Amino acid sequence: MLDKVLIANRGEIALRILRACKELGIKTVAVHSKADRELMHVRLADEAVCIGPAPSAQSYLNIPALISAAEVTDSSAIHPGYGFLSENANFAEQVERSGFVFIGPRAETIRLMGDKVSAIEAMKKAGVPTVPGSDGPLGDDENENIAIARRIGYPVIIKAAAGGGGRGMRVVHTEGHLLSAINVTRTEAHASFGDGTVYMEKFLERPRHVEVQVLADGQGNAIHLYDRDCSLQRRHQKVLEEAPAPGIDPEARAKVLEACREACIEIDYRGAGTFEFLYEDGQYFFIEMNTRVQVEHPVTEMVTGVDIVREQLRIASGLPLALRQEDIKLNGHAFECRINAEDSRTFMPSPGKVTLYHPPGGLGVRMDSHLYTGYTVPPHYDSLIGKLITWGDSRDIALTRMRNGLDELLVEGIKTNTDLHKDLVRDGHFQQGGVNIHYLEKKLGS
Ligand code: ADP
Repeated sequence: MLDKVLIANRGEIALRILRACKELGIKTVAVHSKADRELMHVRLADEAVCIGPAPSAQSYLNIPALISAAEVTDSSAIHPGYGFLSENANFAEQVERSGFVFIGPRAETIRLMGDKVSAIEAMKKAGVPTVPGSDGPLGDDENENIAIARRIGYPVIIKAAAGGGGRGMRVVHTEGHLLSAINVTRTEAHASFGDGTVYMEKFLERPRHVEVQVLADGQGNAIHLYDRDCSLQRRHQKVLEEAPAPGIDPEARAKVLEACREACIEIDYRGAGTFEFLYEDGQYFFIEMNTRVQVEHPVTEMVTGVDIVREQLRIASGLPLALRQEDIKLNGHAFECRINAEDSRTFMPSPGKVTLYHPPGGLGVRMDSHLYTGYTVPPHYDSLIGKLITWGDSRDIALTRMRNGLDELLVEGIKTNTDLHKDLVRDGHFQQGGVNIHYLEKKLGS
């Protein structure tokens, strides 16, 4: 087992990683910016190192500072969490070159999946269903591009190979707009990502976002942990997630779960990962793979009983997967509400001092949060301040527990989006299950 892990992150996920390390008897190093001295995991870690000023570029994204911190603390591995450097292949490479274990896939895998064109190609080869599209980057031949769009059928979407976070995409409804859309997306992609490569896909009009969690040990063993539905999104940001995805065609689902598992073996995947799909009319379409632990991993933990971060640590220690596919049984249903420090209606961030924090509790209720009364939410980072997760042996009970949990949650002194969640968990369509990715924005009238 690893001896000492440096946690290259902050907030709730840093605390989540710290807890998993403690359970396994692994020593922990917290790194933090000058604005983050008061973070809960910094208090709880065996050692803490300040890695720079508040702006992320100078601290949480500062590769030399992170590697130096690992060196001075004699750490054995670095856990990147999510966001920040978690999907940065150069970081993974530098970590390993400096003699530390990167808790995640190999740098080549991150690079392969970070480029959407190569990711789609790898998935197709492995038998994972993809969106009908250009099968590779678009060239400069205008007639050829027009022909590709005709073959796919309008509407189509032009996407940057290096795009991320919902940026670098443009939907085209008619042939008259195609060539200019390709040019603009190319120019933007070049400016934003330093790579002007673009490709074309069929634009699906009412898909759901369904994703598959996997674990693989890089030693030929891989399992899936079933799926999650993350269709409730605003501006491509997930708001409320659940596991398993409700009302999915069982045959298509069994096939896709197995295809993901096999794809992990095919690409020699190592660690925890997520295959993201759009799901429409009973069919799955791969859009991208996340090569890290995700914010919404707890809903899967609640319905499978598998501790995903513990598995990441075991895999990074070089241990083969102890779990086999037949050991993984789905049990009940789980929801997660992302609690953000922001106004429920305007979505404006609301940093500041938390004058009272009271997390909900009870059977099947889990609150993953770094908040405490007296903690000041700094203005420099993502507004996620916690995740309320509920489990029940049926979807109804899990949802009832979420309604009650949201009522019990008290965060005073700053604004939170709790009222939005309270509204969502009482929404008739959401209660039925299976809303598509446009549902929340339509409901909000934006
Ligand atoms: P990113 O890396 O920016 O998250 P994705 O490829 O995951 O990019 O796409 C982000 C979002 O854009 C998806 O969740 C979906 O809402 C929308 N999207 C992407 N591709 C398509 C498509 N072919 N049809 C419809 N919507 C799409």
